[in-house]
Amino acid sequence: MSNPYDVAVIGLGAMGSAAVSFLAARGVRVIGFEAASPAHGLGSSHGDSRLIRLGYFEDPSYVPLLHRAYENWRGLENRLRERILHVTGVLQIGKPDSKIITGTRASCDLYGLASDTLFADQMRKRFPVFGLDDDEVAILDPNGGWLKPESAIWGYLRMAAADGAALHLGEKVEEIAPDDNGVNIVVGDQKYRVNRVIVATGSWISQLIPALQNITNPIRQVVAWYRPANGFVTDPLRMPAFLRDEGTDSSFFGFPEIGPDGVKIGRHAHFMESIDPDAPYCAVNDADRALLDDFAAKRLPGMQGRRVNETTCRYTMLPGENFLLDHLPGENRVIVASPCSGHGFKFTSVIGEILADLATKGGTDFPIEAFTFDRLMKAAQSAD
Ligand SMILES: Cc1cc2nc3c(=O)[nH]c(=O)nc-3n(C[C@H](O)[C@H](O)[C@H](O)COP(=O)(O)OP(=O)(O)OC[C@H]3O[C@@H](n4cnc5c(N)ncnc54)[C@H](O)[C@@H]3O)c2cc1C
Repeated sequence: MSNPYDVAVIGLGAMGSAAVSFLAARGVRVIGFEAASPAHGLGSSHGDSRLIRLGYFEDPSYVPLLHRAYENWRGLENRLRERILHVTGVLQIGKPDSKIITGTRASCDLYGLASDTLFADQMRKRFPVFGLDDDEVAILDPNGGWLKPESAIWGYLRMAAADGAALHLGEKVEEIAPDDNGVNIVVGDQKYRVNRVIVATGSWISQLIPALQNITNPIRQVVAWYRPANGFVTDPLRMPAFLRDEGTDSSFFGFPEIGPDGVKIGRHAHFMESIDPDAPYCAVNDADRALLDDFAAKRLPGMQGRRVNETTCRYTMLPGENFLLDHLPGENRVIVASPCSGHGFKFTSVIGEILADLATKGGTDFPIEAFTFDRLMKAAQSAD
């Protein structure tokens, strides 16, 4: 007897919502499970905005994936008739020899991407909101901008439902058990049977994929919003989103005033504080506030802002701050989609397509050789 579903997607956050949508659009019999409510406040995909940029400083090998991600974001918008991706530019600021500057330049040079280098005096005239050291430079990525994460996730789920996906919200998968003919999925006293499963459970990934215990590292992340005294310079047309190198492996990110709470800022990986993903909401504390307030005062002085909102979120770090998109070794019925080390959201629209390829074709034409279990385990060993 054939299994009632071809594919189950477990975790309907960023990666899972996109995967379930791509699968349903291909006519695959797909069922999705989400333990809570999609884009909820204890996951990794809430908070109004996520950066997207094309000149990727982390590694130029991400650029081909980004080209497809941009195409797919536009595809999502066309179907939804709603704006998800806002291209208003991203500024990458730092010393000329910082990773953010050298890496962005390398990606732009290799792929012939548009970019504009600005020196401190040019920056002060053009973008007066930023506080700069005299020897800093900025690269403006005109293709950069920001995404609306909650709208994207719910948009993908609406499309998936319209294309026939069965979506089970508020159902936590407790166990997956692959065998020769399929995979058993246990949710409370319910059991489901599918041919293949995609596990996209974000910070909770090692609960269903024990091979990732002690490899993935969920950490606490904090962001805060500042209401500018003078709203004009923080308007998205006058203030690009930004990434800023602060030396000694520290970088900050920020967004212009795109919502009622004003300018949002955060420090990448914050204090690198490991957390138990099942712990209740960890409130923002005085040390978090001091870090972000100091940054705002020093680096956005023209804004003269005051903090009006704050929240915590979580990154899930992998060795090398990379991704994992692969079959579980020895289990070709189980596909694992990692939460992507704090920089994955912009790729959601291509990762959904890749996961659908892996589940339906067993492989993909997209370049994901860097995101295998094998690579991850080697990176973990060399990090020890
Ligand atoms: C503050 C912050 C800022 C960021 N900024 C950027 C940025 O600017 N640009 C960028 O590209 N990326 C950014 N990221 C990273 C990006 O947001 C993440 O990589 C991405 O959202 C991870 O998505 P996910 O689907 O893996 O996880 P999630 O969206 O958290 O989804 C996982 C889902 O699985 C569900 N789940 C867990 N266990 C089970 C189970 N057993 N059964 C059923 N469901 C389950 C959870 O409830 C959750 O909804 C940022 C992250 C944070 C936190």
